[in-house]
Amino acid sequence: MTTAVSLREVAPRDGLQNEEPVPTEAKIRLIDALSGTGVRRIEAVSFVHPRAIPQMADADEVWAKAWHNPDVRYSALVPNTRGAQRAIAAGFREIEVVVSASDTHNRRNLNRSTVDSLDDIAGLIPLVHEAGATVEVIVATSFGCPFEGDVDPARVAAIVARVRGDGADRIAFGDTTGMATPRRVRDLLAEVRPDLLHFHDTRGTGLANILTALELGITEFDASVGGLGGCPYAPGATGNVATEEVVHMLHDMGLDTGVDLDRLIVAAELAERVVGRRLSSGVLRAGPRTRLV
Ligand code: ZN
Repeated sequence: MTTAVSLREVAPRDGLQNEEPVPTEAKIRLIDALSGTGVRRIEAVSFVHPRAIPQMADADEVWAKAWHNPDVRYSALVPNTRGAQRAIAAGFREIEVVVSASDTHNRRNLNRSTVDSLDDIAGLIPLVHEAGATVEVIVATSFGCPFEGDVDPARVAAIVARVRGDGADRIAFGDTTGMATPRRVRDLLAEVRPDLLHFHDTRGTGLANILTALELGITEFDASVGGLGGCPYAPGATGNVATEEVVHMLHDMGLDTGVDLDRLIVAAELAERVVGRRLSSGVLRAGPRTRLV
């Protein structure tokens, strides 16, 4: 098995986008705190239409004022070509674009069919490349769809083949609604492999899924400090896998993440204050195994 795991912290974007809107200054403080934890990658903002997602209306200001730690790679999520142009203009060199494997989820999320999204992504990739930036395509509902149920791994594989053919630099599989289980991870990865996996802990299987994927050779994962971010179709449900729970487990397995767990827990406490509610992360509640204070 591998000795190093690359984590991407997604609380400032994925986390806050699924919470009630918070002040610009609080978003900046959260990015700055995370930038000092040793985590090597942060998904900082998304460039979406403010009418669609008011939580991210201040993306330009947040990014302009946040600490850009030279040791951290920052990325922005975009829904379409217009968003990619804004992200590049703001200085991002790593762009993520999302498409759902299930057509119903894509229509609910992006108001168009999966095929229409794929056509837009095909046009977006050369624009991003011309600007010297890279494109990661996130295939949402890869492990199941809350509207359609099971998603055939062959369908995910077909989307991956299409976007790789169109020049995508990286592929991620997303489990936005927490339907993945170790069995589903094995079934999908037997058919097609991503560069990165994005799990939610909606039904308590987040760490089990990561462990399963690690055993299958995947070494890049998204996680959100405190488990920030809910489930878009289940108000009050648990969100992303909590970064400190992932780091706690990986470090005990002897795997390097670059992250300082104590600083990460401080950032998780800040995330809790920012959203004004108790977060569900077990490591945030219990602390690391040893406490010096
Ligand atoms: Zn997520």
